[in-house]
This record gives sequence, structure tokens and C-alpha cells, in this order.
Amino acid sequence: RQAGFPSDKRLEGFDYRHQTTITKRQINALLDFSFLDNRENLVFIGPPGVGKTHLSIGIGQKAIEAGYRVLFRNALDLVEELELAEMKGELKKTLHKLAKVDALVIDELGYLPMSRQARYALFQLINRFYEHRSLIITTNKDFTSWGEFFHDDNVAVPIVDRIIHHSHLYLLGGESYRLKQKTLS
Ligand code: ADP
Ligand code: MG
Repeated sequence: RQAGFPSDKRLEGFDYRHQTTITKRQINALLDFSFLDNRENLVFIGPPGVGKTHLSIGIGQKAIEAGYRVLFRNALDLVEELELAEMKGELKKTLHKLAKVDALVIDELGYLPMSRQARYALFQLINRFYEHRSLIITTNKDFTSWGEFFHDDNVAVPIVDRIIHHSHLYLLGGESYRLKQKTLS
């Protein structure tokens, strides 16, 4: 797919009886896409398997259907892409290209440690998007542990600050859907 979604997940296929820490009403409230028009971010925080990626793809699909431009990137792939661009002296150009979308989904931010260079590249991206474009972020880290994750408060604090400012935070919990499927089969 052009948007880079790793799989085809639909909001219609999301089971709110399984995932009870978020309501259908909360998700449907986003589908007027005022959050995109207002350049606000969505942040889905929670442990593995609770539906963070499913929701971000589902919302992204709906946004595309409504005429918005959406791009999906795994956080590590994105950072690699930015680092490569930086090495070629093309970071500005790459950031410009990425910021043509209305929303960039960054999936699995914070799962693995990043090099100093990677954190810096990510900071450039967050800066470029701040109050200009929307980010849809999934992460397993709550923001209090982001300082530790980035190892470098000089970058961590402004990154987290810019992401949280103008953002809708959703804390997802409960059982992993993957585990549920395992026990059923
Ligand atoms: P996370 O990104 O939080 O680790 P995923 O969104 O990848 O979790 O969900 C794991 C798998 O379980 C995916 O195949 C997803 O479609 C499915 N899944 C998770 N939660 C739900 C749900 N509430 N209803 C339907 N499918 C779900
Ligand atoms: Mg995921």
C-alpha cells in the first residue's frame, strides 16, 4: 500500500468488548478528523497486543478515505530512514517530503534504544511536525520513562513536550488480544 500500512486493519473489526479501556465513542469522536485539521497528535500507550497498531491503522485508513494523506512508519524504520538521509546530507529534504502528509503514524516508538544520532534525527522530525502536521504514535512507554529511554534529557524533554502538547492520549490496558486468540485455539 502507498500509505505503508503493514496490514489491513479496519476499525469495523475492532472489538470493544475485548478492549474495554477505550470506548467506541472515543474512537468515533476522532473520525470528524478535527484533530488533523487542528494539527493535534494521537498517542496510544500500552503493553503489547492491546490494539494500538490496529487502531492507528484503522484511523489512518478512515482518514485516507476522508481525503487526508497518511503515512505509516515503524519507528525503527523511520529513524533508519532519517539517519540515512542525514548521512547523505538530505535530512532537510526527507523531512520536507514526510511533512507533506497530514498525519504520520509512528508505530512502536520507544521499544528499542536509539543512538544519539537517531534521537537527534527524531527530534528534528518532531520539530518539523510540531503544530504543523499530526503524529499518531503508538508506544509501550509512558511518558515518565521517556527521559530514561532517550538517555539524554536535552533531547527527551523537548521531544516529549512537543508530542504531548496538543495531543489526545489513550492509555490502553487489558489482556493481549494475541494471547486471547492463543487460548481459544
Ligand atoms: P499492539 O500494537 O498494541 O501490540 P495490535 O494492534 O498489533 O497490538 O494487536 C495485535 C493483534 O490483535 C492484531 O492482529 C490486532 O488486529 C488484534 N487485536 C488487538 N486488539 C483487538 C481488538 N480489540 N479487536 C480486534 N482485534 C484486535
Ligand atoms: Mg503494535
